[in-house]
Amino acid sequence: MDEKLAEQFFNTMDARSDEAQEDCIHCGKRWYVMHHLDGVCHNCQKKGLPGRREIARHKKVVRWVILIGTALLLARIFIFNN
Ligand SMILES: [Zn+2]
Repeated sequence: MDEKLAEQFFNTMDARSDEAQEDCIHCGKRWYVMHHLDGVCHNCQKKGLPGRREIARHKKVVRWVILIGTALLLARIFIFNN
């Protein structure tokens, strides 16, 4: 094989393997994406830590609770002031 072509090939392979890796959202351990579940490495999965989607869902629920709580508080202040 042509030397330059071989070098290009290995560079492409390196770039690919870089892309296929990511940091665990809990411990920051860099690992291959295919071993991660929703951004969580195998060790953290065993600990039962939540994945990216679960955290996003949780944040959404918290946002709604805060919104409803604020609305109820404002309604109470409004009712008691009149
Ligand atoms: Zn982890």
